[in-house]
Amino acid sequence: MMLDVQAVDTFHGETQALFGVSLTVRDGEVLALLGANGAGKTTLLRSILGLTRPRHGEIRFRGRTITANPTHQIARQGIGWVPDDRRLCPTLTVEKNLALGIKRTAFRPWTLGEVTEIFSALKYLMSRDAETLSGGEMQMVAIARALLGSPGLVLFDEPSQGLAPKIVNDVMAVIRRLKAEGIAAIVVEQNADVALSVADRVVVLQRGQVAWSGEAAELVADAALKRSLIGGV
Ligand code: ATP
Repeated sequence: MMLDVQAVDTFHGETQALFGVSLTVRDGEVLALLGANGAGKTTLLRSILGLTRPRHGEIRFRGRTITANPTHQIARQGIGWVPDDRRLCPTLTVEKNLALGIKRTAFRPWTLGEVTEIFSALKYLMSRDAETLSGGEMQMVAIARALLGSPGLVLFDEPSQGLAPKIVNDVMAVIRRLKAEGIAAIVVEQNADVALSVADRVVVLQRGQVAWSGEAAELVADAALKRSLIGGV
């Protein structure tokens, strides 16, 4: 088991955002985390990363409890993050932004050469300041940076947000490629169809609780079930 989240309650101040959330991610699996605005998807990613600590519950990564670990240690254990706002350093070059992501973990290490083989356009962007990039280019740098952290699991927060449909397809192809390399992922999406195109399994959050979990194929095959769980999103 790659990740095991058990009965997590997470609060923002006194406001509870997650209510007893449990989910698992198996080795090499892509899990889509779906739900409407405010359902708690980002809060769950932040709980896993140690950025917003759960008040109750336990999070285990490859069998070891990480619930109380500092974020940098969680990253070193092999959990990568592609935040929805990319979080690049705007006035640093792409090359320096990527260098900041390099980490060694227990998982397969990635060299810059291997990463630029997947993202061939990166080669031509290395000396550009991050703030001059397009949205799609920024997303590519954010994913490449996560990969250079040698992750076993990558958390993608709204990877399709603000991107043209062609770029969204490219990003999903990259998630499939990482899966082929044995890297597991949680893909948070408001666009359910995009996430279902890469996911093995799905967890649907509603108002901070798990409303449904099951195989992605089940939701793809059952339009009425999909509509009842995630409506028009
Ligand atoms: P979105 O797609 O809008 O990001 P989400 O499913 O990721 O939605 P969260 O961002 O996790 O949902 O929000 C869950 C709940 O927690 C919401 O009610 C939100 O208003 C609240 N919340 C999120 N961040 C904070 C914060 N920093 N302070 C207070 N409340 C917050």
